[in-house]
Order: sequence, then structure tokens, then C-alpha cells
Amino acid sequence: MNSRPILAFVCVLQFFCGGAWAQDSTITLKVDATEAPRNILRAQLHIPAHPGPLTLVYPKWIPGEHGPTGPITDLAGLKMSAAGHSVEWQRDADDMFAFHLEVPAGADAVDVALDFLLPPNTGGFSAGGSATAKLVDLNWNQVLLYPQGSNPRELSFAASLLLPEGWKFGTALTPIGQPATGAVQFAPVPLETLVDSPVIAGAYFRGLDLSPNAHPPHELDLVADSAAALEIKPEDSRHFAHLVAETGALFGARHYRGYHFLLTLSDHVAHFGLEHHESSDDRTSEKYLTDEDELMRGAYLLSHEMVHSWNGKYRRPAGLATPDYQQPMKGELLWVYEGLTDYLGVVLAARSGLWTNENFRQYLALEAAGLDHAPGRQWRSLADTAVAAQLLYFARNEGASWRRSTDFYEEGDLIWLEADVIIRQQTHGTRSLDDFCRKFHGGQSGPPQVVPYTREDVEAALNEIAPYHWNEFFQQRVYAANPRAPLGGIEGGGWRLTYTNAVPALLRVEETAHKTTDLRDSLGLLIKEDGYIVDVIPGSPADKAGVGSAMRLVAVNKRRWTPEFLRAAVKLAATDPAPVELLIENEDYLKTYPLDYHEGEKYAQLERDPAKPDLLSEILKPLTPEPGQ
Ligand SMILES: [Zn+2]
Repeated sequence: MNSRPILAFVCVLQFFCGGAWAQDSTITLKVDATEAPRNILRAQLHIPAHPGPLTLVYPKWIPGEHGPTGPITDLAGLKMSAAGHSVEWQRDADDMFAFHLEVPAGADAVDVALDFLLPPNTGGFSAGGSATAKLVDLNWNQVLLYPQGSNPRELSFAASLLLPEGWKFGTALTPIGQPATGAVQFAPVPLETLVDSPVIAGAYFRGLDLSPNAHPPHELDLVADSAAALEIKPEDSRHFAHLVAETGALFGARHYRGYHFLLTLSDHVAHFGLEHHESSDDRTSEKYLTDEDELMRGAYLLSHEMVHSWNGKYRRPAGLATPDYQQPMKGELLWVYEGLTDYLGVVLAARSGLWTNENFRQYLALEAAGLDHAPGRQWRSLADTAVAAQLLYFARNEGASWRRSTDFYEEGDLIWLEADVIIRQQTHGTRSLDDFCRKFHGGQSGPPQVVPYTREDVEAALNEIAPYHWNEFFQQRVYAANPRAPLGGIEGGGWRLTYTNAVPALLRVEETAHKTTDLRDSLGLLIKEDGYIVDVIPGSPADKAGVGSAMRLVAVNKRRWTPEFLRAAVKLAATDPAPVELLIENEDYLKTYPLDYHEGEKYAQLERDPAKPDLLSEILKPLTPEPGQ
């Protein structure tokens, strides 16, 4: 590990800052979540300290979110005291996340009281919607301060959590008792482990053992807005158990003492997944486990987040392995951290049976076509989207095709698929990307640790699996601007990206979930149900006719629009020389835009190329038998 010099620097800095916390003692954190249903968490900290100046900080750069997303705006009611007397604090004028105070003579600790105002039903990541009337998702970084300059790997926290009566919880932390007050007490852990170990809790809770009698244990913890949402189908719990077995076969070692999928099923919390060493905070719709379409749409949520335990938490880009939560993160290697994880996540969804191979191919086709049509790739490289990830995660959807998005996920799928295909071709089928994963992410099983890496480390490990010009490969695909998406993996894998006039099942469920009509591959338009135009692809027929994003579609061929009428008009224009006529509202003005487009409906699909071996299907073959079969 190369983090020692950084830690040494921090200690020197701390000496000059005159930090006055007692380094060898444990900080006590009591969180009262009984008011979570009305969106308030209350916290009390007891921080052992010596008299003198002290600076306490609120976590700013949140691991896995790759940005300064600590929700400081929602910190309220901050009060400090020592030995029973109030202590004044002052926020740093430059660093909004730092609070200065003076520990009075004779005091041996600072007591801090704070509230965290849980946001209502919003998007975003862990700072987004996290509580409903029936459940709460707790991320400890939101309810604590810690001494500036301290080392989160050594700073001990004894945390407890008081929940509404009757609520049950899931977490990777170890409960050590539930005293008469009703609060759950957890075994003391370093701050790094605490922040890495969220808790989900609620009135409707269920825990499933995914690897009975095996070590380490794996649990699927479910919390939901209804009891019905917990009714997982037996075949799906077998698929999740299969996922656990597949990760073991893929990586060859596990870097955790036990693993908890913390799955929240609610339509009133932010939907995302956030990785941790020994758990993942996975939040999705209430019907995820009971509606086949919902599970198909998000089949890779749990596999993606679990892969991160190896790729992202254990092996981590040096620029993201920062010494505490205040130092800026550098995202350049997110094309490995997120890109490779995304690829392995979708491959594992197919290998574990959560997806069919056809689901996988549809996903790949839609992603590939979307990337291939995004003209933003003409002006910025994939690496630039990774460097700017901390901005792009919060960019608007309008203009996304010209701006580019956090494309290192989807384009990572294509690039790592191509790497997988190249390894298989170069070694005549004797090796694959699986061998790279075992070499790079495997090693000794044991408790969590972080082993940072550089781009050179990745290329060197690939070269040991299959000698190839990997540096040039990534230089061309990741670090240069490319007008076309990298389709070499699909083509080398024995398939071709083509277009059909039938809406693929995966696109249909995406459209239903997001209330959109996606005609980006034909007219160049992505439209919300109320006609709001989210994006116009530059160079597309809609763009050439002068349509812009944030306008509103009113009528198609003089009739009030619906998705069905719009699709019918596109179909008709394939045999009719008349243009597709769109009546569009631009704020207070209405205008008709004739779209000269006659190629019919177009939706991406993969078509088998019989001239080449079907490596794609080879890649999707499970490495282990399905449990219970
Ligand atoms: Zn991820």
C-alpha cells in the first residue's frame, strides 16, 4: 500500500493545527431515528478532547459517490458543550465543512448535538430521499463530526441507534446489546468502518441467508413500504444465491467477514446503489421483487454493487483512496472502478440467471447505440467524463448527448467486453477477463483492506494474462475523443449492432418506468409523457428541423400527440413522402416543425454474425451450478 506517506503528512499537519482531541479514546455516537418518519434524525456525540483549540469536520467527499456530496446543508441544530457548559463554535470561512471551537480548561471532552434533516422524496445518492413512514436508510456520515486531521482508520466510534418501536434492521455492523432504553448498541469500530456500514431499518423487514452453512456468511436484508413487497419468489432468491457463488468463482477470494445486501424497496426514497466493503446500500422500487419487469430492468443492481467489494473497495484507484473524507478525490480511473464493475455486474446478472442472454444482448445493444449516437464524444474523451464525474453526476438530462454523461459506466461495458474478447482471442480460448479478475482482485481472503492501483498496474496485470498493446488500447478508447462508440467487443464476440422496428422488451420497461418515449435512434428525440423534450440528438432529423430540448411536443400530423400516434406517424413516413409534422410549444410560442425522415422506427438490437464464433454467449456461461439444482 502506498498510503503511508500521505498519513504521515496528515499527522504533521495535525501537529501544526494544534488539534486537541484525545487520540486513543473512543468517540460515542448516539443516533435517535424515532422521528425518521417525519424526516428528522437526532444525534449526540461525546468526543474526548484536551483543552485548547479544536476543529471538527463534517464528512465531505463520500466514498463511492466520487464527489463532495456530504449533505452539509441539511445539518441543523448544531450545539456544542463541555463539562455541562455551552461552547461557541465558528464555521471556517473557506471550508464550509469545518467548525472551530476552544475546548475550555478542565474539560476532557466535547459534547455535540446535531440534527440531520432527511430530505423528502428526492433523487440523488445517499443524501437523497432516505426515509418514509415505514423505513429509514441511515448513512452514519450524515450524523457525525470528527476531529480534523484524525485518521478514520484509527479513530474509534461506539455507535448506538434508537429506532421506532417494532422496527427491525440490517447492517454489516455487529450489535452487542439492546439495553433497556431500546437503542441498539454496536461494537466499536474505526470511523472508516462505521461510514462504510450503513443501516436499513423498518416496520417491514426480512433477512434471507443466501449461503447457508458457508463462510463467510451472505445475507439479503430487505426493508419495504409494505409486507407484500418482501415476497421474493423462490427462483429469484436462488438467483441471488447463485450470484454469491459466481462472485466466489470469478474472484477466487473474498475481502470481507460477511456480506449484507441492504435492499430498500420503496417508491419514496432515492433510487441508486452505493457500494461498501461488507454491504451495499441498494434502493429501488417497491415492486422490484414482485414485478417481473421491474426486476428485469434492474437485474444488475445487486451484482454491480457486490462486484465493488472487490473492484472499488478492495482494489481502488490511488486517486480515490484518500486519507480522510475532506481530501478531494481524483476520478480519472473511474473507467476501471465503475466501467469494469458495470461490465462484470451485467455479465454476473446473466451468469446468475437474473437475466437471460437475450436480456443481456438487448441491454448491450441499447447502450451501444446510445453511445454511438452521442455527438458529445466528438469533443470530449471518456477519460474527461471520468475526471469530471463529480460534476456530471449532477448534470441536467437536457443536452446530455452533446455534453456527455457519466459514460464511463456504459462505455466501460463495451471497452471491457472488447478486452475480454481480445484475451480470449489472443490465448485461443484458454484465458479470459475472469483470469485477470482472479489475479488483480483475488489474493488472500480476509477482512477489508484497501490496495490502491494505477493505470500502469492494470495494464501490467492484463499483460500477464495476455500480452497485448494494452496501453495503446486504452489510450485510443479512453483517453482520445472518438466520434464512434467502441463496438469491437460486440463484433469480435460474434454479433452485430443493427436496428429493428419493434420496441425491445428492455426499452419498453425503461419507457414505462421513466414515463418516456425514446425515439433517439430515429427522429433523435427523447420525450416525457407530458410532451417535454428531454434531449435532441445533434445531427438527427429533429435537430436539423430546429427542435431543441426543453420545448414541448403538442401534436403530431395535426393531432394531439400520444406515444402511439407519434410512433404511428414515424411508421407511416417510411412509405409516405410527406414529412412527420410536429407542433411544438417553446414557452409561449407554437411552431410547426416538418421532420424529413423516412426510415421508419429504429431500435437497437444485436444480430448474430455467423462468420464468427459466439464468444458473447461463451462469456455469459455460469462458472458454477445454480444452488439447489
Ligand atoms: Zn458503481
